[in-house]
Amino acid sequence: MATTQTQTQTQAKHDARPAAASAALRLAQRAWRSLHTDAENSIRLADRALARAIDARDAAGEAWARLARGFHMLYFAGPAEAGDELLLARACFQALGDRAGEILATTGQGRALWRRGRFDEAESQLLPLRDEGLRLLKNEQRGVLLNAIAGCYSAQGRSAEAFAYMYEALRGAGPRRGYGFDAALYCNLSHELLQLGDCDEALTTINRGLARCEGMRNPRLVSLLLINRIMCLTELGRAPEALADLQHICTLPTDASGRGTNALHFETLAICALRAGQSELAAQLLQRAHDGGYFHLPDEHIEVAIASALLAGGQGDAPAGLAALKAVQPLLNDKPGAVSLRVRCHHAQVVSELHETLGDATAALQALRQWQTLQAHRAQQASRARYQAAALQTELLTLQHRLEDNETKRRATERARAELALANEALQRKIAEVQSLQSALREQATHDVLTGLFNRRHLNDTLPALLAMALRERQPLAAVVIDLDHFKVINDSHGHHAGDGLLAAFGRLLREHGRRSDMAFRYGGEEFCLLLPNTTAMSALGKVESLLAAWREQVFQLDSGRLAGQSFSAGVADTVAAHDTPAALLRAADNELLAAKRSGRNRVFVQAGPGNGRLIEVHA
Ligand code: GH3
Ligand code: MG
Ligand code: MG
Repeated sequence: MATTQTQTQTQAKHDARPAAASAALRLAQRAWRSLHTDAENSIRLADRALARAIDARDAAGEAWARLARGFHMLYFAGPAEAGDELLLARACFQALGDRAGEILATTGQGRALWRRGRFDEAESQLLPLRDEGLRLLKNEQRGVLLNAIAGCYSAQGRSAEAFAYMYEALRGAGPRRGYGFDAALYCNLSHELLQLGDCDEALTTINRGLARCEGMRNPRLVSLLLINRIMCLTELGRAPEALADLQHICTLPTDASGRGTNALHFETLAICALRAGQSELAAQLLQRAHDGGYFHLPDEHIEVAIASALLAGGQGDAPAGLAALKAVQPLLNDKPGAVSLRVRCHHAQVVSELHETLGDATAALQALRQWQTLQAHRAQQASRARYQAAALQTELLTLQHRLEDNETKRRATERARAELALANEALQRKIAEVQSLQSALREQATHDVLTGLFNRRHLNDTLPALLAMALRERQPLAAVVIDLDHFKVINDSHGHHAGDGLLAAFGRLLREHGRRSDMAFRYGGEEFCLLLPNTTAMSALGKVESLLAAWREQVFQLDSGRLAGQSFSAGVADTVAAHDTPAALLRAADNELLAAKRSGRNRVFVQAGPGNGRLIEVHA
């Protein structure tokens, strides 16, 4: 009632918010696609999609979310819950007029009926969908329908048809378009081979299926494959080898994230334990089969009796064992189609074994004859189905190889890409290193490290060009040579380190005071040179004077105490005074510097005026 209401509400409000609707739908379809590859994520996505779809009144999103949830429940919960959810999904699709979706939901419902042992109903629901389904569905969706039909045939013991449908299902849903759907077929194929008594082939298929499951997260498929392996090994008389699988299954959680309530098969495990001589373990498992409280298919019902009979026989109470087997005889008689040949054979075999224990050779022989007849029947079916089974196995193998090829290629590409990225990164690092090295080298080649000014070498490189340009453009170029006064005393009284500090500070001062076109060089130890383009000696003089004033102002806090009132002497010359070679210009400025030193330091001397070398002495 409540669910119908939700559904109606959703329909009524449908189309109100189409943008949000498509988000829920996308989520739901992602859930559908990861049903096999990542079961846990699939249900998480489906739940989120459903919540969103209801919130956004999105009927299509709701339909797909319920479909994915229903199928997940088929695998991980009970068939009844799954059936309910799929009924809702079907109603949603119906309301939308989405026939393909409706067929899918009905397929799921058919499977739910099948799992409850209602094989006839399942068949009458599924078979009529076949032609329309083949027209409307594609890829894995078509596979889902065909595989469900295969299940119906399998339940009737019509293995050849079952194989043929599985084959078609697989062709529709290869590993790439099938989202892991092919892995479920390993399970069904091995089950069918097992029913036919072809246990060796079944084992091979199971092992391939387990390998296929390695890249996926589907614990239910793994547990079903393991149960099939246990059945095979038990039937082959190799039950002790199956004990490891048995232990593994027992450790799997039985809730929705593990095996699911419809895949418990404790009776199968109990029979295996008994055949492996582990009667105590078998008794526990059998108890769990009884306690389970979940629905037993007819096969499972009889296997519970077989396990009880074997246990009783092992405990020396063969009559009780026979009684248990006799109790299920009506099931064998009344529903000939519902119990598989495999289980019938098994039943007859154990009846014979128990009679033999009791020394009743006649009854034992009679049961053995019955077993023989059933086995012959089974073998007949097997030979009829062999061709189809082989075709299916070949197809599975081909697909598996293709999958492995794709995987290998993908890995190789990924590896190559990663290596390339690494190489690229290393290359980028190397380039950056070389670039910073180059710029450091360039810096070192032209700059003085201590003061940050250009070095003398750069002066030698630059001055000729600046001079040539000045002469060509008839613009003045001034050169200034500066020498710090009594610098030796600084070193002597305050240490070399303090001297270095002062030199660096003087470098900063020169850089900060210059125009963009001015260039400052460290000429020698405590000697500096300035080149001032478009500047006469007289206007350079003003600048150098203000520099001297600024330098005298500077106060230094040294470890050895405060230091202030530093001075320098400087000589200025320019190209106007006909110094047309670098050496001549520098020599003229140097001469002025020498004169300034001689006349008492702390001053700037300038050689001004064209030609005549008239000296102007400036006392700072
Ligand atoms: P004047 O006024 O005559 O120029 O006297 P001065 O002491 O400055 O001249 P002198 O040529 O006698 O000494 C220069 C001193 O500069 C000697 C040297 O130790 C010092 N000097 C040169 N380069 C550096 C350097 O890079 N760091 C330090 N701390 N001192 C330096
Ligand atoms: Mg000097
Ligand atoms: Mg000096």
